Amino acid sequence: MTQTQRNELLRAVEVARAGVEYSVQTGATCPCCGQSYARVVSTLPWEDNTRLRYHRCRNRDCVLTTMGINIKSVQVDRDK
Ligand SMILES: [Zn+2]
Repeated sequence: MTQTQRNELLRAVEVARAGVEYSVQTGATCPCCGQSYARVVSTLPWEDNTRLRYHRCRNRDCVLTTMGINIKSVQVDRDK
């Protein structure tokens, strides 16, 4: 693994932990491989107009999948 790949991986893991934006159209997009519609593992109740979900990437070759890292997503209710 090159230094650049290492940095990209660390960044993707960081984003997965911090949370990506949840889209009603495409669900959560994996910050590592860019695959959308990540499989939902758990959905939390709405809280202060935001809702958190945890996902697993659908791409079996994705590093986040092989490392067993969940992707957090944040949905914001913009109508309110
Ligand atoms: Zn992925």
